[in-house]
Amino acid sequence: MQWEPIIAELRTMAVGTVRVDEPLSRHTSFRIGGPARVFVEPEDMNGVIQVLDWIRDRHLPYFIIGQGTNILVSDRGVDAIVVSTSRGLRQIVVEPPRIQAGSGVLLTKLCHVAARHHLAGLEFAISIPGTLGGALVMNAGAHGSSMVDVVATVLVWDQAVGVHRIDGAEAEFQYRQSRFMHQSWIALEAELVLTPDDPEKIRERMAHNMAYRMKSQPVGEPNAGSVFKNPLPEYAGRLIENVGAKGWREGDAEVSPMHANFIVNTGHARAVDVLRLMRRVRRAVYQQTGIVLRPEVRWIGPGEGGTDTTWENLWYAEGDGLTDE
Ligand SMILES: Cc1cc2nc3c(=O)[nH]c(=O)nc-3n(C[C@H](O)[C@H](O)[C@H](O)COP(=O)(O)OP(=O)(O)OC[C@H]3O[C@@H](n4cnc5c(N)ncnc54)[C@H](O)[C@@H]3O)c2cc1C
Repeated sequence: MQWEPIIAELRTMAVGTVRVDEPLSRHTSFRIGGPARVFVEPEDMNGVIQVLDWIRDRHLPYFIIGQGTNILVSDRGVDAIVVSTSRGLRQIVVEPPRIQAGSGVLLTKLCHVAARHHLAGLEFAISIPGTLGGALVMNAGAHGSSMVDVVATVLVWDQAVGVHRIDGAEAEFQYRQSRFMHQSWIALEAELVLTPDDPEKIRERMAHNMAYRMKSQPVGEPNAGSVFKNPLPEYAGRLIENVGAKGWREGDAEVSPMHANFIVNTGHARAVDVLRLMRRVRRAVYQQTGIVLRPEVRWIGPGEGGTDTTWENLWYAEGDGLTDE
């Protein structure tokens, strides 16, 4: 693809910062990932919509990034336009018991805003380190609750029909998945409905959830949270621990000795190290239990010709011994 004229045109739109060959390792909690051909951070919602419309009209490959806390990006990077929501979608409007927030708002910030306005319901999210947009896509959750419990409506950008508002039910939230994953929908903002409560009680629940997190997960090391989904009623962490995988390494990627469903970057881990480790773990669990673990972390790559977020393609392409699944 001839990127120079595309980049020049994007710059003339003056919607925000445009960077070329931006290392995505700077934008992922794993601290892993090759360069994005173009990285754009629109300044406001109009800028985000303008860029998305322009990308659609020119049929360009693109990918949306929030805080990059649930993605593993190829070492080769992505030959696409990466659109960041972090700067342009940060508006918050509180009208108790509702909060309307841009999808670039940090979930933790939203928890504190809710608590300040005596609104309960988001305490589960206090230690989930992503944006509201990423949390909607993933139906992020913890401590028995998830986004589906609080989302009333979402303002979406849709490749076919432009900007429109959907009900929470239309997002088809399920355990760590939603319709956003299968539809060309970008979440622009969401309206949450919370419950009035005593602020001291809300803060107590947040502190309790935070303390649990600090003692059970490798909070200080680069990682992307749970690598695999729980094959309910089983827990991925327990299955991985049972095959003795804690401490297994590939390069600088390590199965956390603290929590077996976390892979941590202990130094200069590459995506390929994490992939190898995931495959090793997955195969070992399959051989011991017959259960195939499914990734929760989303794969962004392979890096040539746009983005491919399909793990299955990757497993099959590289062969992990589970092709009979
Ligand atoms: C230490 C740690 C602990 C974690 N704990 C939890 C936990 O308890 N529970 C849990 O559920 N998750 C957890 N996570 C995972 C992660 O934080 C969540 O999935 C989070 O919601 C992802 O948000 P993000 O902004 O980082 O998304 P990103 O990683 O940037 O993106 C995730 C996916 O969403 C897409 N996306 C992002 N924004 C939008 C948008 N506005 N519109 C459409 N698509 C979009 C991206 O293209 C990508 O496919 C944890 C991660 C870490 C590092």
